[in-house]
Amino acid sequence: MNRSNNDNTDPLKAINDYISSIDGVREYVIVLDGYPLYWGKNVDEEKAEELAALATDMISSFHKYSSISGDEYVIISTETPSDYTGAARLKPNLYLLVRGKPSIVRTILLDVYHYLNNRLTCPWCGGDLSLNIVKCRNNHSLPVGLDTCLICGSRIEYFECPSCGRPVDPHGNKVVLRTPRENIITSLIIMAATLALIGIAVKTYHTLSLLSLIILFSSTLFFALSFSLLYGGLKKKQPVRLRK
Ligand SMILES: [Zn+2]
Ligand SMILES: [Zn+2]
Repeated sequence: MNRSNNDNTDPLKAINDYISSIDGVREYVIVLDGYPLYWGKNVDEEKAEELAALATDMISSFHKYSSISGDEYVIISTETPSDYTGAARLKPNLYLLVRGKPSIVRTILLDVYHYLNNRLTCPWCGGDLSLNIVKCRNNHSLPVGLDTCLICGSRIEYFECPSCGRPVDPHGNKVVLRTPRENIITSLIIMAATLALIGIAVKTYHTLSLLSLIILFSSTLFFALSFSLLYGGLKKKQPVRLRK
């Protein structure tokens, strides 16, 4: 982690880069002092001004809001059957409005809040996880904090910390990867069966009968097959969530 490099990065530009690369976002705008500063996805300059006005409207009307921490930061959302709009007052003069899939929008607003305030850190190495993008099985780019990809429905059990590479669950808990017990048991059974077959083949080999040759041949095939099964079964790891 390069701290001095991080400090030199414009935080609002970092937020813009982050939101622009997340899937499931339809429109967004970052509003500073009432004017759109950054916008993206399907937003042009005219639309950005319209959304900036909407963000200001939503935040000043406070018709439905939830406070993340005390009364300084406010998230407001409006939901229609087809759309979801979330707006957050991140600082007195800094607003963020995001439109798209509900959970993705809410998670982005929270992640940006964490980025500007109490950063989410890796439980293994303490590295910064704020504005980290998580990939689902189908390569959708998502914010940290979702258990399920809202686009394809695949579960997100863990992601790798960008600093240390160790597995972390979507809520910032440690995850360890373990070989499932049934895979170990299956592997042991396969190994025993293979040894037994080879034993039979070796024992009957001196007779050089057709049968022993067949057994020897099939035990070689079985050995190759069981070795690949053994390797695959022991290599397959399951994530197990550790409590903090
Ligand atoms: Zn997905
Ligand atoms: Zn880490």
